[in-house]
Amino acid sequence: MASLPQAGRAVDDVIAELTEKRADDVKWGDGRTFGMVYDGGPSVHAVAEQAARLYLHENALNTQAFPSLRAIQSEVVGWTASLLHGDEHTAGFLTSGGTESILCGVLAARKRAHAERGVTEPEIVLAESAHAAFHKAADNFGMTVRRAPVRDDYTADVDAMAALVGANTALVVGSAPQYPQGVQDDIPAIAALAASVGASCHVDACMGGFVLPFAEMLGREVSRWDFRVEGVTTISADVHKLGYAPKGVSVILHHSKESRAYQTFVFDDWLGGFYASPNMQGSRSGLPMACAWAVMQHLGVDGYVELTRSTLENADAMRAGIAAIDGVRVLGDGQFHLVAMAADPVFASADGAPIDMFALGDALLARGWYHDRQKPPDNLHSTVSNTNAGVIDDYLADLDDCVAAIGATRTADRSTTYATLE
Ligand SMILES: *Cc1c(COP(=O)(O)O)cnc(C)c1O
Repeated sequence: MASLPQAGRAVDDVIAELTEKRADDVKWGDGRTFGMVYDGGPSVHAVAEQAARLYLHENALNTQAFPSLRAIQSEVVGWTASLLHGDEHTAGFLTSGGTESILCGVLAARKRAHAERGVTEPEIVLAESAHAAFHKAADNFGMTVRRAPVRDDYTADVDAMAALVGANTALVVGSAPQYPQGVQDDIPAIAALAASVGASCHVDACMGGFVLPFAEMLGREVSRWDFRVEGVTTISADVHKLGYAPKGVSVILHHSKESRAYQTFVFDDWLGGFYASPNMQGSRSGLPMACAWAVMQHLGVDGYVELTRSTLENADAMRAGIAAIDGVRVLGDGQFHLVAMAADPVFASADGAPIDMFALGDALLARGWYHDRQKPPDNLHSTVSNTNAGVIDDYLADLDDCVAAIGATRTADRSTTYATLE
């Protein structure tokens, strides 16, 4: 085991080694990474870096000491609530990310079910497309997950969910959109299902929260998913994804202050004095909160609309390009910024099997393109954002080359293959 050096090192020396450590990290700055880092462009970097410097050391644990952080939190939460069509009752907090927002939403639903309906064996009803963070929440909070399949179009099978909802249901989950294939669930039906047993309904808009409102402003068709839908009790929306703030910030919104009260923890029987905490953290960096505030102010609605326009145009171009390449296809009919690319069963490589998507992923990676890998079926996942502005034509040319190199050849007529699959 390495030990800490006895004598401290000079600042330049430390920074030089850190810089060197990053050599093998993904080079998101060149636009070839589809996900993980969301790059709003040079002025967004500038405003975030300056805000970060101001708030590097500030602690939001105690907003009496840092009233600016109380204001920053309430403003960012308020702007997000207004984008998501909340009303004067809507309330929320900032968290460290999507997972923490989901943990808070699940915990509030659990406590509410216990307080209002006496539920002692709480359950979460969700589809297999719902984010893994809900399973983490269930594991952490001692809840049972009841999982429904997705339909052929990858949206949650709401009829199957209905069969799982009952007296123990604390929470019913819908995604807008879900991460794996980027399709949006039928939120009105899911919210009605939750309401039918008095349960909470969480809409996971970690990905969509800072895309769907602007897609709607652009005149794109977006089916209803936010607080305009009756029965939605909580929504998570990640500012550190397509909100273009640096990592460490998300919003959890509740439809009412009563609902929000179920996620807060207050303790007044400690030798350390009165202790209150709104989310999973104790000491809480002010840095990501201030960056979110600064980035949102800098972009404004117009800035987000423009970023969303280019993002969705790029995602559309990617989908169309994939559809035009023999051997690969897009899973589902996603309309937003997430694209899952799988092998087209109509084609096979030299060995007669459908092309190996993870081998394709390796070939693309050798050319600098980074995708997340997921299954089933084996597929390469892209979160398209402004990070990838201007690279889609190059990407599609490389994709075409790589697929050709793997050697996909048509094995059957499309209609017969699909007929056999059914
Ligand atoms: C990213 C994501 C999450 C989890 O968010 P983290 O910020 O990674 O913790 C949850 N749901 C969806 C749909 C996501 O895309």
